[in-house]
Formats: sequence, structure tokens, C-alpha cells
Amino acid sequence: MDIQDFIRDIPDFPKPGILFKDITPLLSNHEALVGCANRLAKLSPDNVKIDKVIGIESRGFIIGSMIAERLEAGFVPVRKKGKLPYQVKSKDYGLEYGKDTLEIHVDAIKKGEKVLIHDDVLATGGTAEAVCNLVEELGGEVVQCNFIMELDFLNGRDKLNSPVSSLLSY
Ligand code: IMP
Repeated sequence: MDIQDFIRDIPDFPKPGILFKDITPLLSNHEALVGCANRLAKLSPDNVKIDKVIGIESRGFIIGSMIAERLEAGFVPVRKKGKLPYQVKSKDYGLEYGKDTLEIHVDAIKKGEKVLIHDDVLATGGTAEAVCNLVEELGGEVVQCNFIMELDFLNGRDKLNSPVSSLLSY
């Protein structure tokens, strides 16, 4: 089974000129979904016990929680501004036009915890960079950032100081 066969290209979404990688065909196929989560969990370094897996809103929640289950780790959501109910730490990050804000609960990561960050797509890296900063400000250690796919030509991994793994590159 080739995971690539379950990623659909949508031209001009959400804006003209953008070729959007749609993972919903992968999510809706049991074998592809489980295979993807298994492979991403296996990319996690063997010699480190991961305490928390972070999923980035919103597609990162789905497979992120499956990775957490496989690694016997807790799951932590990082969400857009105003969605989390308890006290938060916030980080602004740049978008192509303007900026956005990501938030994490202040007690979600304890000092010294080992953290794996997951999202569906690594594009420019701004989102994952902001999440790495949030984890580090809470005293956690980012052991790995992992993605279903990365868009190589945007060089997102250059923004990240932690090891980066992905199943597919475009
Ligand atoms: P970055 O901050 O430019 O790396 O963008 C990454 C964020 O945008 C992630 O949260 C992705 O879910 C989302 N994203 C960017 N491009 C795509 C795409 O082609 N398909 C799905 N999500 C995307």
C-alpha cells in the first residue's frame, strides 16, 4: 500500500495558485490510516521515551493522537487563538499575508518532558517553528517534528532546530 495514492491534489484551494494536498482520502481508508500512523510512530527515535505528542490544529489532531497511543504518550492539542479553555501561552507566527496565533495550555508540558510534534504538512515551517518555541518556553524538549508530507521546495525544515521526519516529500 502506497500512502501517496491516498493524497489528493486540489488546485487553487484555499486561494488561486495554491495546490492543496488533501489527506481526507487517506483518513477515510482504514488500511492507509493505520499504516500511516504506524509508520510515523516508528520514525520516533527508539532510544527516547516520548512523554507528549502534540497535534497541531486541526488535521494534526487526528494522526497525532494515533501516534500518541502507539508511543504510550499523552496527547496535547495546539490550537488557534481563543479555542483552548484554560490559561494559555501564545505565539504569533507569520503567514504569507499577515499573522496568526497558536496557543497551548500552560500546564500541558512539564519541564524536561520529551515532546514529539506532529502535523499533516510541513510547508514554509512557520507553524511548526511557533509550536517548537511554545514547547521550549514551557521547558519541554522537542525530540522530533514529524509530518505526513513536506513541501521540499519551501525549505520549511531549515526553520526547525529539531530533527524533522516525514513520510513523503514533494
Ligand atoms: P507552514 O506554516 O507554511 O509550514 O504551513 C503548515 C500548515 O499549513 C500546517 O498546519 C498544514 O496543515 C497547513 N498546510 C499548508 N499547506 C497545506 C496543504 O497543501 N495541505 C494541507 N495543509 C496544508
